[in-house]
Amino acid sequence: MPAFSTRVEQVSISGIREVFEAAGEDAINLGLGQPDFPTPDHAREAAVEAIRAGKADAYTSNKGTESLREAIAEKHARDNDFDVDPNDVIATSGGSEALHIALEAHVNEGEEVVFPDPGFVSYEALTHLAGGTPKPVGLRDDLTMDPAAVEDALTDDTVAFVVNSPANPTGAVQSPDDMREFARIAAEHDVLCISDEVYEKQVFDGEHRSPAAFDETGNVVVVNACSKAYSMTGWRLGWVTGSNERIERMLRVHQYAQACASAPAQYAAEAALTGPQDRVVEMREAFEERRDVLLDGFEEMGLECPTPKGAFYAMPKVPDGWVDEVIDRGVIVVPGDAFGENGDGYARISYATDMETLKEAIDIMAEATAALK
Ligand code: PLP
Repeated sequence: MPAFSTRVEQVSISGIREVFEAAGEDAINLGLGQPDFPTPDHAREAAVEAIRAGKADAYTSNKGTESLREAIAEKHARDNDFDVDPNDVIATSGGSEALHIALEAHVNEGEEVVFPDPGFVSYEALTHLAGGTPKPVGLRDDLTMDPAAVEDALTDDTVAFVVNSPANPTGAVQSPDDMREFARIAAEHDVLCISDEVYEKQVFDGEHRSPAAFDETGNVVVVNACSKAYSMTGWRLGWVTGSNERIERMLRVHQYAQACASAPAQYAAEAALTGPQDRVVEMREAFEERRDVLLDGFEEMGLECPTPKGAFYAMPKVPDGWVDEVIDRGVIVVPGDAFGENGDGYARISYATDMETLKEAIDIMAEATAALK
């Protein structure tokens, strides 16, 4: 019998994949967490040019090329109202690696990490892998995370809490006041706030503010990526920003586990961040239109769904048996409890699919809902 680490034994393969595998080949897939748009041409071209010019053959600096880190710093000053030195940025293999190194660098055995429930599946898994103890917190009725609930969940053993806005799986967007509160809590309790902002460009109502804009103590690290903003999930390019001391610790993990992010992807990311932003706008407008159609559909079905103000997910409350009924009829959706205990009784619907297919799926979901009444 091979011996495995207790940390890895606490983690299982995400339930989302099982749903895909259970459905037929012709199923409509509303389970996907990636935009259904191509990567902007100028980003693709920048990678191709870098490859042709022989610029992408070798390791880059561990933190990533200087020009990419400068582009990231400029992006944060322009879009997010906070200054970061390009030296305090690490380009990572997607937002996933950024979350991983943030937790690895800060969590000791048994220390607690607070995160939203329902929430993105990686928070719990990466906490386990770092040897920490997951502390999921329930959400408000509108599926945002209440800063007061986070503050209540803190104990002497808490080392970090995760904020995710706009959120997967709920589509919820935290208000600027909440973000200010999260920064205050991080400062007052001297815990780390990990702000996962990968859906930042998909906000339809309200606005995205980063807790980093309110951070005066260096207790906020920001995780972001090109994946969702520029439809670049396959490129695997994200980043993390933080105080110099924190970045130096995260770099120790990144350096040994990853060496550097993929060089061609770094050139593509730089072009995406500095080039025309039309695709970002096009995607946001398309997602908003689809969200509205989907919400109308839920209303007609009599399903309650807190209005998702961002990302490309909706999380309606669904009757018992709904998810199976919908999947049996050929539409893949993800059961809410794949995202935590409090997701029970909900389903996550991704509307990263064209309008025609989405409307077809809405009709099928309506039939499934009617069949259960
Ligand atoms: N954070 C959230 C909330 C996500 O939903 C995802 C991907 O689905 C990630 C981070 C990871 O993104 P990436 O593909 O850049 O690793």
